Amino acid sequence: MPLAERLTHVQWAIADRPPQCLLAASKGVAAKTLRRAYALGLRHFGENYLQEALDKQMALSDLDGIVWHFIGRIQRNKTAALARNFDWVESVDRPLIAERLNTARAGMAAPLNVLIEVAVSAEDSKGGCAPEEVPELAIAISRLSHLRLRGLMALVHPQAEQADADFRRMAELFFALQQTPVHADLDTLSMGTSADYLQALQHSATEIRLGTILFGARTQESL
Ligand SMILES: *Cc1c(COP(=O)(O)O)cnc(C)c1O
Repeated sequence: MPLAERLTHVQWAIADRPPQCLLAASKGVAAKTLRRAYALGLRHFGENYLQEALDKQMALSDLDGIVWHFIGRIQRNKTAALARNFDWVESVDRPLIAERLNTARAGMAAPLNVLIEVAVSAEDSKGGCAPEEVPELAIAISRLSHLRLRGLMALVHPQAEQADADFRRMAELFFALQQTPVHADLDTLSMGTSADYLQALQHSATEIRLGTILFGARTQESL
């Protein structure tokens, strides 16, 4: 199915509850396909691998208004390049990473938008901080002047019932943070992928991250 049709399908499905941000999760997707996505109106792209992302940013540098989000695992030695080449980093899960991003962002016009990735699912071995650690990490990030904490991000359990509990927990964590005066301006709860974005939106997601449903299945080598 062509990209335009896939996107129309998604837009129809979310029409009664549109998120603030529909992020195209574009790992393994060629720059020329992202160019088509841009022509269809998509502006937010989420990448998982630094070098792949830099290559695409170069190839698409003529397009105005693209917002680049990093949604992959963060390697400590890549923090400087991430801070300088992305608008958002969604996978911050420990103070050391936040501090390194902050240092590298100094001197740039705008602060780096960051989300705390939460390992909300017991199954998630991909990273993220423990739910109990969120308040302390949020405070630590809010003290860093070149970062702007926007909210939380998570990948949830693949099974719908467990996912439901995970989404609910994330919404609770997010709303609890927003009750704290220093975090009253948090506006982003990034959760939901191709498999579960409607469920995520029912649980107050403000950003969904869609790969497969927009671009088709990733081949093994494209990962
Ligand atoms: C790849 C990826 C997605 C998109 O997953 P799909 O199932 O292809 O929609 C979302 N979030 C993260 C962090 C990803 O790495």
